[in-house]
Order: sequence, then structure tokens, then C-alpha cells
Amino acid sequence: MILPNGYKLIIVPEDSKDLFYKESYRSGMCNMFDEVIYIADNLRKNVLREVIAHELVHAIISKYIPGREISNDEEWVCNFMGLYAHQVTELTNYALKRLQFKNGRLQEKDE
Ligand SMILES: [Zn+2]
Repeated sequence: MILPNGYKLIIVPEDSKDLFYKESYRSGMCNMFDEVIYIADNLRKNVLREVIAHELVHAIISKYIPGREISNDEEWVCNFMGLYAHQVTELTNYALKRLQFKNGRLQEKDE
């Protein structure tokens, strides 16, 4: 599939060379040069969101900081966002639904 950011998401066998990095097979890989995210076909359902989000954070960072070396700090950010970005988005949307601007001032909506 093609994602809205232009990246392709491709499901590949767990032993695909596209998942091999630093001497082991990964659950997901982001090829920032070809703009492809590879996801292993043996992923368990309970980690699918986390893996896709992790690889998408690499893709998004790459858009804004092209040509960088991937650091342990970046892996930490991708792991964190993979686990918690959904929660941040849900809570932000919850708050936004209950706020409004009235006469140029922010306020809570009347119930
Ligand atoms: Zn990573």
C-alpha cells in the first residue's frame, strides 16, 4: 500500500533480506532512501501498531533531517512514539473536542 506520506508499506516474509539489519532479522525496517517500510508477515497483532508507528517515526524524522546517522537516541524516540504516540493523540483529540475559541479567546465548550 501507499501511505499518505508517499512511503510504500510492504509486508514481507520474516526472513526477507529487507528485514536484515546489523546481523539479525527485524520485525520492521524503514528504507529511507527508497521510502519503503517493510513489515514482517509473522508479527503478532498486539505489536503491529507499535512496529508500524516505530518505522513511521524513522520516516518522518528522515523527512526533516535527511542524511543523518541513526542514533540510539533516535531509536529511543521511535520506541517511545511506537508505544505512546497513540495515547498522546487520543488525549489531545479529547481535549480539542472540548475546547473552543469565542471572541478570540480559548475556553471550554459549554456542556
Ligand atoms: Zn528503529
